[in-house]
Amino acid sequence: MNDSKKLMYAGKAKDIYEAEDDDKVIVIFRDDITAGDGEKKANFQGKGNCNSLISSKLFEVLEENGIPTHYLDLIETGSVLSKKLQMIPLEVIARNIATGSLLKRFPFEKNQKLDPPIIQMDYKNDEYHDPMLNDEITIALGIATQEDLDEIRKITLKINNILSEFLKEKGILLVDFKLEFGKDSEGNIILGDEISPDTCRYWDIKTLETLDKDSFRQGQENVMDIYEQVCAMIVDEKDIERWEI
Ligand code: UDP
Repeated sequence: MNDSKKLMYAGKAKDIYEAEDDDKVIVIFRDDITAGDGEKKANFQGKGNCNSLISSKLFEVLEENGIPTHYLDLIETGSVLSKKLQMIPLEVIARNIATGSLLKRFPFEKNQKLDPPIIQMDYKNDEYHDPMLNDEITIALGIATQEDLDEIRKITLKINNILSEFLKEKGILLVDFKLEFGKDSEGNIILGDEISPDTCRYWDIKTLETLDKDSFRQGQENVMDIYEQVCAMIVDEKDIERWEI
């Protein structure tokens, strides 16, 4: 379906195509997977489809709870119609439990509960390897204003509450996740990108087993089984019927 459409941007795991309308884009979820600053690469058939379903469902949950997102419609499995945004080059990370890079950089206890949650902003810039920012650096670089940053923090905390609650009911502990925001043509801050096992840490609430990209980072052999399992936990049969996919 995208043969005639123009590719606007190719990321590490998604492609963005022009849509019929100028103010919309089509997001294609690919099967590529990367970790460790892009050093570890692979391709798992069906991963893009899983992520498109999970991300669509979570964006719908957020919209129902009053969070403005770029999500418009799951056109078909793997392909999502979204609002076009001017993206802000920030990786906004929220953490409820200390793990991952936080443990490498700071003396937190492994799996320490973080209450209140920690919000961290990294500069989305491959050349500089996504360094951690503070507000002064972000403002001085012209990436965002103080008002933008305050708003982004407020929305991120709300998203954390909504998703933690929703996922808990599905048997999933939301450990941490990464968000990306953009602005629409009126300058409103809108949630963009994706929310999937590629961009979150999900743990099984009972066993604390990994249900996300950590399986790939750790070199497990059953990465796709895990993605399919978490997809079945988050997306219902009813969603599939409703989407008519
Ligand atoms: N994350 C992401 N993209 C990145 C960096 C982090 O989606 O470029 C997500 C990651 O999947 C995790 C959270 O943000 O859910 C925190 O990641 P962390 O800083 O611990 O980095 P990592 O251990 O992945 O290097």
